Amino acid sequence: MSKKIYLDYAATTPLDKRVLKAMMSYLKEKFGNAMSFHLFGKETEKAVEKARAQIADLLDADPEEIFFTSGATESNNWALRGLTKKGDHIITSAIEHHSLKETAEALQKEGREVTFLKPEENGVLALSKIQSAVRKNTKLISIMFANNEVGTIQPIQKTGEWLKKENKNKKNKIYLHTDAAQALGYLNCSVKKLGVDLMSISAHKIYGPKGIGGLYIKRGAPIKNLLFGGEQEQGKRPGTHNVAGIVGFGEATRILIKERTKNAKKIKKLRDSLIKKVLKEIPHSSLNGSIKRRLPNNANFSFKNVEGEGIVLGLSLKGIAVSTGSACTSGSLEPSHVLLAMGKGPLEAHGSLRISLGKYTTKKEIDVFIKELKKTIERLRKISPEL
Ligand code: PMP
Repeated sequence: MSKKIYLDYAATTPLDKRVLKAMMSYLKEKFGNAMSFHLFGKETEKAVEKARAQIADLLDADPEEIFFTSGATESNNWALRGLTKKGDHIITSAIEHHSLKETAEALQKEGREVTFLKPEENGVLALSKIQSAVRKNTKLISIMFANNEVGTIQPIQKTGEWLKKENKNKKNKIYLHTDAAQALGYLNCSVKKLGVDLMSISAHKIYGPKGIGGLYIKRGAPIKNLLFGGEQEQGKRPGTHNVAGIVGFGEATRILIKERTKNAKKIKKLRDSLIKKVLKEIPHSSLNGSIKRRLPNNANFSFKNVEGEGIVLGLSLKGIAVSTGSACTSGSLEPSHVLLAMGKGPLEAHGSLRISLGKYTTKKEIDVFIKELKKTIERLRKISPEL
């Protein structure tokens, strides 16, 4: 097998070497518990607070508004469950990541009202739909900033601007949460500009370590604990700090601030040429989701008469990693809930393929990928029933 090609950066990204370097001493000699009063603790506490400040810088927030969690899954669970109570109404979309979707479904069973809004055919939610879904008891609007399967960017800033006016005349404020796990690497995530009260983030999507993430909580937002049993994170998120992970998250953030714009430009150019070539060279192929309101690293296609899983397996045998959709559900073989919500039929949703690029992707890799994709689809179409 020739060199392996990784085109699944939306599932996770490799650790940047500089991040690993920053983390190393916290995995070895600097092992103190960041809550300990002695010198070992003070050393790691300082590192945790430095990382918090770096992340706050990226989000345009105060360090006290950043709470470390185990990742965006936990942050999404916390935001939804912590901010609402029985009888409250939550507005969300039908294309959220499973960590949000399934939390909302669980809360619905426990007595919250939940509205799942469908996006337009292009995978973008209309602001007017959000506005008209509001009820007297609406407590929280939770819409992802960018979708993990089709990369479409949702109107968070517009929602934030509208809510600011709306909340002026309201006794019971409506809060805004966004899952920015996919957006963080590419879009301006200033919480002030977006007007959000809560934001979920994750380190492993931005070349940081896995198992560490955060929740931005605007000062004063009335959020209850998900976990109990310690004074860490202002008593709101107990548990011994994952110091090395937090340091890695901070360093990944520092690098992102410096390099995001440059990398996004390079990646978008490669992605645009990939889309053009695939649509031109592979018959019966179509792009899912808006081309304009889309993350620069995402391409998602449907290929008539072939199963996405078959393509993923075929390419994997050639050393190429792509995906059918979310890695979190790739064992399920269910058609994508995102594509179904966009109005695609089950066949199209089954034949979809997500290609997500990253900062280490090269033109040569894209060329090899397209050549192998063409061969794989031709081969699979020969053995599958007629179009
Ligand atoms: N939300 C979105 C949009 C994601 O893409 C992911 C990761 N697949 C998550 C949440 C979950 O993040 P984590 O892996 O940090 O729990």
